[in-house]
Amino acid sequence: MNEVKMLLDELAAVCANPKAQLDAAVADGRKCVGVLPYFSPEELVYAAGMLPFGLWGAEMQANESKRYYPAFICSLLHTVLELGLKGALNDLSAIMVPICCDSLKGFGANWKYGVGEAVPVIDVAWAENRKIPAGVEFTRSQFRKVLGQLEAIAGDRVSDAEIGASVAVYNENRAALRAFSAAAARRPEAVSPTARCAAIKAGYFMDRAEHTEKLNALTAALAALPEQKWDGLRVVTTGILADSPALLRILEDNQIAVVGDQIAQESVNFRVDTPVTDDPVEGIAQRLGQVEGCSVLFDPGKQRGKELIELAKKVNADGILWVMTKFCDPEEYDYVPVKRMADAAGIPLLAVEVDQQMVNYEQARSAIEAFAEILRF
Ligand code: SF4
Repeated sequence: MNEVKMLLDELAAVCANPKAQLDAAVADGRKCVGVLPYFSPEELVYAAGMLPFGLWGAEMQANESKRYYPAFICSLLHTVLELGLKGALNDLSAIMVPICCDSLKGFGANWKYGVGEAVPVIDVAWAENRKIPAGVEFTRSQFRKVLGQLEAIAGDRVSDAEIGASVAVYNENRAALRAFSAAAARRPEAVSPTARCAAIKAGYFMDRAEHTEKLNALTAALAALPEQKWDGLRVVTTGILADSPALLRILEDNQIAVVGDQIAQESVNFRVDTPVTDDPVEGIAQRLGQVEGCSVLFDPGKQRGKELIELAKKVNADGILWVMTKFCDPEEYDYVPVKRMADAAGIPLLAVEVDQQMVNYEQARSAIEAFAEILRF
């Protein structure tokens, strides 16, 4: 148990202070590139010898950013912009901005105007019709363009062999994340929702190879623990982010374990590997065509709902918790059809709204307590 706790604490410490990771990398002479969600080709940054640094917002009040974005834009973008405006991200050599929701479409312009050329923006586009050959080809060509911009920042050409090696590092990391997530579901008494979330999220701020090493050690240590019965509830989460410390504490207070997820920041990002192809950039584009379960991806027929229900059944979940990011249009559009699908499948689903600028979680607490009582009944 000590080794499990030690490794979980190490990863939690990374998550608690991502800036320390950034500072350490820069002090080591490594360039860092900020990566906004979703599905930016991080492998290309890594192949260029730079550190991809995840930008998933922060638990803070945004003030300055409200001069650029109206208040009804999600807190993820408000808080990243706020950090940029305050100079906290000045050590980044660039940021990658995917243009996959209406709010993200304006982010690059706001950043350029507010933060300036000190941290240049790399726009990342991919095809809405991401599965068809023409879509894959479009995405491949856009990612090649991104590669050219990254090469200019790194000051060196990046070979296909280097990209292939980076893809291998990322695929190993995804496999380690999947194995950890499964092990955590088997040991809810040892891996709290807070610890599970931190262990996964830490990867966005670390060298992926180092993260893989820690996760593999953690999964092995979890497997060595003696069996223990879990009397609490088991839920599957879905949404964009489920990393709010207050929300995760409410789950713990109610003896609720997260035994699987369909969260963009978590499993959605590691469920699918990058296929190994002759042109490694094409493989990265193909991967995007295979990812499901995210509201920013074109999803006719709401594959997301089918996948979520299958997951809940597979992990024997008592219910589904939809962690709704406030002011996120894509999530709000998905909610109604997916909720109907869960109702038809007889799986209880609760939605709670979260916001990184929120300080009072009492409404969420009441809803989760009531949900837990219903599930236990
Ligand atoms: S998808 Fe939602 S949470 Fe993500 S950037 Fe767009 S509005 Fe914000």
